Parts: sequence; structure tokens; C-alpha cells
Amino acid sequence: MKINLRKAKEENDQYLDLDLNVDIRSIEGVHSLKVKEPIHGEGKIYFTRDGVFLNLTAKALVESSCSRCLKDFEETLQLKLNYEIVSSEIAEEMDQEEDILVVDHDVIDLEEIIIEELIMKAPMKPLCKEDCKGICNSCGQNLEEGSCNCAPNEEINETIDPRLAKLKGLLKED
Ligand SMILES: [Zn+2]
Ligand SMILES: [Zn+2]
Repeated sequence: MKINLRKAKEENDQYLDLDLNVDIRSIEGVHSLKVKEPIHGEGKIYFTRDGVFLNLTAKALVESSCSRCLKDFEETLQLKLNYEIVSSEIAEEMDQEEDILVVDHDVIDLEEIIIEELIMKAPMKPLCKEDCKGICNSCGQNLEEGSCNCAPNEEINETIDPRLAKLKGLLKED
């Protein structure tokens, strides 16, 4: 959804209501993310004496793979966008500020902005749940789905003499 801000200001005076769906299926970022349904965004663009401001919230239902147990899981990411919109000519003269959105020729592309925000907000290491136990280093069992018979500390196991490990296994059985 592209909006010409100059036109919108003329037509709407104080603010412009926004309600849009971004239909995108996947995002290739640091890790790939599947978008399960169109992202719905709602908000306003305000035209004030101090400038033009974007206020937008969006909800994205995404599927990613847990970085610990590798299972696919869905979660809803909430996006909150609060930016001052500044044209590129003015932005050059400003100190680099975080909360500004620079636009060329008074045209703002909300789809692009929402997608960029989603890439920024998507966790680098997604977790199916905060305390996901992950996968056993020794046998590959998904510890979220059930425990295995390996010793709890796999790091030690790896450095131990395999014959000793076997002995340890035998001792554990009685
Ligand atoms: Zn997990
Ligand atoms: Zn195991």
C-alpha cells in the first residue's frame, strides 16, 4: 500500500486512517520465516504542525524452527511502529535519529515498512518455548518430546574414555 503523503494531507487535514493487509508468504532474513496468514495492520498517519507521524500496529502469525529442538512452531509477533516521517532532503540535514522514516518524493510504502519491521523484530534464535530443552547431544532425542537414557551432562560424556562410558552405563542399570 503506497500513500502519497502530500495528497493525503490535502485530503485528510489531521490524520489518515490505515487498515491494510500485507499478503506475503515467507521472508528470507537471517533465518527463513513463514508467514501463515496476511499480516494485518491498523493505525494512523498524523499531519501535525511539528511534522508527519506514523502510528501503526500489526500482527503477524509466523512459523519458524526452534533453534534448540529444530521443531517448527507458530507464534504471533506484535509489531508497533511509531515513526516520524521525514522526506529525504530534510533527513540529510538532521542528526541521525532512530525513530524517523525517510521517504522519497512524499511516497510511503507501508507494506515495505511492515516487512522491514518484521525482519527486525523476528528473533534471531527462535525458541518454541523459553526453556526448550533442545536435543540430546549424544542420541539426538528431542528432549521436549521425552527424555533419553544418556547421562545428563553430555559434554563430560564426550571427553570420557568410551570403555569407561560403557562401564558407567552398566553401573547405571542396577
Ligand atoms: Zn524447541
Ligand atoms: Zn540422549
